[in-house]
Amino acid sequence: MSGQDSMGSLADILAARIRASGPLPVADFMGLCLGHETHGYYMKQVPFGREGDFTTAPEISQVFGELIGLHLADLWLRAGSPAPVQLVELGPGRGTLMADLLRATARVPGFHAALDITFVEMSPVLRAEQKSRVPHARWADRLADVPEGRPLLLVANEFFDALPARQLVKTTLGWQERHVDWQGGRFVPVVPADAPRLDSLVPPALRAAPEGSVFEVLGGAEELALLNRRLTQDGGAALIIDYGHDRHSLGDTLQAMRAHAYADPFAAPGDADLTVHVDFAQVAARAGAGLRVLGPAGQGRFLRALGLDIRTAVLAKANPPKAEALVSASRRLADSDQMGALFKVLSLSHPEWPAPAGFDA
Ligand code: SAH
Repeated sequence: MSGQDSMGSLADILAARIRASGPLPVADFMGLCLGHETHGYYMKQVPFGREGDFTTAPEISQVFGELIGLHLADLWLRAGSPAPVQLVELGPGRGTLMADLLRATARVPGFHAALDITFVEMSPVLRAEQKSRVPHARWADRLADVPEGRPLLLVANEFFDALPARQLVKTTLGWQERHVDWQGGRFVPVVPADAPRLDSLVPPALRAAPEGSVFEVLGGAEELALLNRRLTQDGGAALIIDYGHDRHSLGDTLQAMRAHAYADPFAAPGDADLTVHVDFAQVAARAGAGLRVLGPAGQGRFLRALGLDIRTAVLAKANPPKAEALVSASRRLADSDQMGALFKVLSLSHPEWPAPAGFDA
């Protein structure tokens, strides 16, 4: 019942806003569905896990966060163990990745003592979850609020897919923004005839696409520009992991997940997770200038290069009753017909830092 109530209230708020000032850009609709102060999807519940709507790599296996920890600690050691170092996670969910990362790196000499950990998280519910697992972290609303002036190690898993993306549709007039209208008691996607032409936001190679084509402009432009500036100025490295494509491409990838099944993204505002596929070419274009850019590599290749199979075998041997589950969780992360190929890993780092591991040919 409470789901019904909250669905009604965000739907009412959005419908009233559309009646008052016209259709909302899809990006604004997505932003409010996920981040509305009281009714936003991430603001009112813990969405992951068996009871929730979807699951993520750190929730599938502890090995995921462990290997990311070893990747970052190895890089930090080879960079000369700078201290202090700012460890940042964007959108940490339940804090599981960071807890696994810290456990796996506890014996790296000097690493923990050097770390200042900041979580960039908008949801009070998830901040509480994160605090229960990593009590000594700090929290920030955005990357701009994280202290600068020291090397940055940053990780973002399934963060950029949750940021509001703009959808541009090719019409007879050019590329115009898709909006959400309220018609006959439902939210429906529309392209208002008077929506401005935004051809300049579409990569030149795709501009001549046929009518009806959709191009998505990834959200997070400010975070990505800032990430570039921080890495350039202070040194360090970032790992961006998400599902998506390595080249610019066309297509409507806005999707809703509810109770582990796909749902209509416009049907239940605030009660379903909304995401888009991440265009890694846009990430690299916005954040990569002047930095070492590695990947995107398939998540499976990356994790296997970092020792996924050995780590899984060690854990399985130490815990025979769980061996089968551990092996199948690792396969789920890495096999190319599961998460191993659709999910990709992009590394950005200061050009004078040593090369991050896991991207060798
Ligand atoms: N990395 C986690 C969670 C992914 S879900 C995992 O892999 O399990 C997306 C996360 O990003 C959630 O923690 C959500 O609350 C957070 N988030 C989404 N949009 C955000 C924004 N604009 N600012 C800060 N955090 C955001």
